[in-house]
Amino acid sequence: MSSHSDSQLNLIVTGGAGYVGSVCAARLLESGHRVTVVDDLSTGHRDAVPAEATFVEGDIAEVADDLLADGFDGVLHFAGKSLVGESMQAPDKYWHGNVMTTLRLLDAMRRHRTPRLVFSSTAATYGEPATIPIPEDAATNPTNTYGATKLAVDHMISSYATAHGLAAVSLRYFNVAGAYGRFGERHTSETHLIPIVLQVAAGVREQVQIFGDDYPTPDGTAIRDYIHVVDLADAHEAALFRATPGEHRIYNLGNGAGFSVKQVIETCRTVTGHQIPAVVAGRRAGDPAVLVASSERARSELGWTPRRADLAEIVADAWSFAQARFAR
Ligand code: UDP
Repeated sequence: MSSHSDSQLNLIVTGGAGYVGSVCAARLLESGHRVTVVDDLSTGHRDAVPAEATFVEGDIAEVADDLLADGFDGVLHFAGKSLVGESMQAPDKYWHGNVMTTLRLLDAMRRHRTPRLVFSSTAATYGEPATIPIPEDAATNPTNTYGATKLAVDHMISSYATAHGLAAVSLRYFNVAGAYGRFGERHTSETHLIPIVLQVAAGVREQVQIFGDDYPTPDGTAIRDYIHVVDLADAHEAALFRATPGEHRIYNLGNGAGFSVKQVIETCRTVTGHQIPAVVAGRRAGDPAVLVASSERARSELGWTPRRADLAEIVADAWSFAQARFAR
């Protein structure tokens, strides 16, 4: 399968029925790449898969060996478990779903000589950071099982790259938000801040809880670095072309600016024109006070610049998506 030109790749997108995976699949197709989405639909949605993608329903751990035998230029591996709270309650889901699954994918890639891998890692690998903004060489001390499993996968990828010549990139996401047209965030039971706040604005939830107002931050609420999902997706395409055989590169992806929970709620009030009642509740287990990325390495080595860095614009895109979903 090498009828394409050098700049048009034949790619597998695992988790392409999920939030970030579907946006990334859509952007890659627009760039002219061929995309096969693999998703077991455990948390993704069939109708989130872009129409132009080939769709394979299944667990990547089960289907990778057969599928990769057809010859692909690379895998973008989004499939996995991603909720901090759930990872503390049901760690088995995370060690199996993130670590075991990726090990089987790596073995299949090695067997079929699939040259490139771009992996969805996370800021949660760092834990409570010693310096802000967080550079890629910061210590990794995850405070939750989710972060621990993603860090374990990063270690696995490093050793496969070194030993077997894989060209690998891990992208450590900070807080992904926003939407891309019909592709957006719609988890069955939502835990993320912006979609929850917008559910309150849309009238499908009564109030938002602020998890802790006693953090050592200016307004006492936790600070995160919110990045637009389209900027995030575009970094994946850059990573595919930056990937170098035998190397595992790691890049943080954020805007480099932090917003507190209270600031996010206030921005949502301004963008939506709704009042959005908020109440203070206790801290959520495993949550660090401040997570803000240094994205200097991604900017200099990937030539990547976030183009939608304004929080109000990120929220506005998420709001358009939420309104279409909850039209009231
Ligand atoms: N948060 C909150 N109320 C909610 C959901 C989240 O106060 O209903 C806080 C959460 O404690 C964290 C921030 O908002 O400080 C972002 O949380 P989210 O779950 O969106 O992303 P995370 O940082 O956990 O990846």
